[in-house]
Amino acid sequence: MEDYRFMKNFLENISEDEFFSKVNLHLHSCASDGMLSPKEIVAQAKANGLRMISITDHNTMMAYDEIDPEDKDIKIVKGIEFDCWDGYVFMHILGYDVDFECEELKKLYAHHKCSTEYDIIRIFPKRSAKRVIQAIKKAGGIAVVAHPCCMWSLNMDNTIKRLVSYGLDGIEVYYPYRRHRRIIKFYGCSDIKKLAEKYSLLKTGGTDFHKDDLSHDTFNFV
Ligand SMILES: [Zn+2]
Ligand SMILES: [Zn+2]
Repeated sequence: MEDYRFMKNFLENISEDEFFSKVNLHLHSCASDGMLSPKEIVAQAKANGLRMISITDHNTMMAYDEIDPEDKDIKIVKGIEFDCWDGYVFMHILGYDVDFECEELKKLYAHHKCSTEYDIIRIFPKRSAKRVIQAIKKAGGIAVVAHPCCMWSLNMDNTIKRLVSYGLDGIEVYYPYRRHRRIIKFYGCSDIKKLAEKYSLLKTGGTDFHKDDLSHDTFNFV
C-alpha cells in the first residue's frame, strides 16, 4: 500500500491515451464473475504490454491472495468494486490501494461467493454509498465511482455532488459503455469528463473486463 497522496498523484498522472492500451484499472477475475484466474490476468496483462492494472472484483479482495501485488514487471494497484445504493440510485464504487485488513472495509465484503457473482443477488445487501466511500477512505484508499452512465440517476450532477460530500476522490471517465445496459443513453464519457472537472475529481478508467482474452479487450471510449 502506498501513501494516499502519493497514489492519488500517481493516478492523476496517467495520460488519457494510456488508458486501455497501457493501463486498465477495472478487471474482474474468477474471484467474482470474471472468467480468468487472477494469475492468468496478470500473465495476460504482461503479455499484452500493459504497465499498470487493478483487479477490482465485486465485493471481494480474494484475488490478491493468489498474486503478488509487488510484482516487479507490472504495477498492480489493489482494488475492489462494491455494489451500493445512494437513496434510489444503485451504483458501483471502486476502491483503489486499500488496506484490505481494515475492519471497516471487511464488514462490507461479500460473505458468500454468490454475492460476488450475480447481479440479482448483489443488489440486495444494502450497503450505502456513504458507508462504502468512508470505509475506503478509512482503509487509506481512493474511492472512485464506476461507469457512471450505468447509474439510474435522474440528476447526475446532484448525485456526484453528494458522493463528493461523502469523500469521493474520482470518477471513471474512460470506460467502454456509452449507454445504460447498451439501451438508453444517459451520459456519454464527455459529459462525465465535464463533471470530473467541475468537482476536481481524479479521472480513471478500465474496460470492466470479465472475459478470457485481454488481447481482444479494446474499446473506444470517446
Ligand atoms: Zn461495475
Ligand atoms: Zn466491474
